[in-house]
Amino acid sequence: FSRLWPVVSSMQSSLESVAALIPSLEALIKLQQECAESQELMNGRFAGGRTLELRHGLELRGVSFRYRQEGDRPYALNNIHMHIPAGQMTAIAGPSGAGKSTLVDMLLGLHKPERGEVLVDGSPLAEHNLLPLRRAVSYVSQDPFLFHASLRDNLMLMNESATEEELWEALDLAAAGDLARGLPERLDTIIGDRGVRLSGGERQRIVLARALLRKPAILILDEATSALDTVTERRVKETLDSLKGSMTIIVIAHRLSTIQHADQVIVLDHGEIVQRGGYDDLAVDGKRLFGRMVGHSTG
Ligand code: ADP
Ligand code: MG
Repeated sequence: FSRLWPVVSSMQSSLESVAALIPSLEALIKLQQECAESQELMNGRFAGGRTLELRHGLELRGVSFRYRQEGDRPYALNNIHMHIPAGQMTAIAGPSGAGKSTLVDMLLGLHKPERGEVLVDGSPLAEHNLLPLRRAVSYVSQDPFLFHASLRDNLMLMNESATEEELWEALDLAAAGDLARGLPERLDTIIGDRGVRLSGGERQRIVLARALLRKPAILILDEATSALDTVTERRVKETLDSLKGSMTIIVIAHRLSTIQHADQVIVLDHGEIVQRGGYDDLAVDGKRLFGRMVGHSTG
């Protein structure tokens, strides 16, 4: 544990510098939540906390949710019914603001449904299975967060017992192996806000490696490959394909190519499911929606 203290204390100072730089209270709260979450995950992990083995899958049953439950405020999610089978790859697509990230938050119990319920292996999500569920999840967001610490410490944050070999394996799976081999001090290179400058795509690959290192039962990628170039993205896609069957994968993507091998694709728009099926089943309507998505993300 002691090895992590420098990381944790630099997390504190990162928080302070963020507080000074970003006037947005919301951004700060979100960051604090993320830190609290990872603290919770770390504590759980090192205390040998119970983690969930997803056998059947996750389910949303008639879930509706609004960020503010008053008057005629719009629903971020409206009467969502969906099943996420264990061991399969589920893709969630749809334009910006459709409710994709909110849906993932619901699955992790970060918001409480106004109506309907979330089921984990057939049981309602409640106190007793919330932590085991979160411990089973590796979640990679669009804005990856790296600590001012060595690449090694950034990776091992989520798996303290990882071997050198496992570190490189995770980096290679995340198409970050060559990047790491090219750093001045390889795994010992200091990265993060005041360390070696990394591009958005490079940060995304390292955070993905960190997520894979935990060998999670559930891997959630929320537009986590948005900054990758086409070639690198293809390599990450191959990795995801190879992981299919060994973990439950939920991928939110705005690029059609990323979700080509998904077992099911759910298309959201304005908080509602407007298409669902296999990638090849997506009707003309879905294609039009994808067109909008790509338009949105590439400006
Ligand atoms: P997506 O991930 O598909 O881009 P989101 O789930 O982030 O969409 O957002 C769905 C809707 O909920 C949007 O209208 C968005 O403005 C709103 N929303 C998202 N987060 C918040 C929040 N923290 N507070 C209030 N409204 C929010
Ligand atoms: Mg989102």
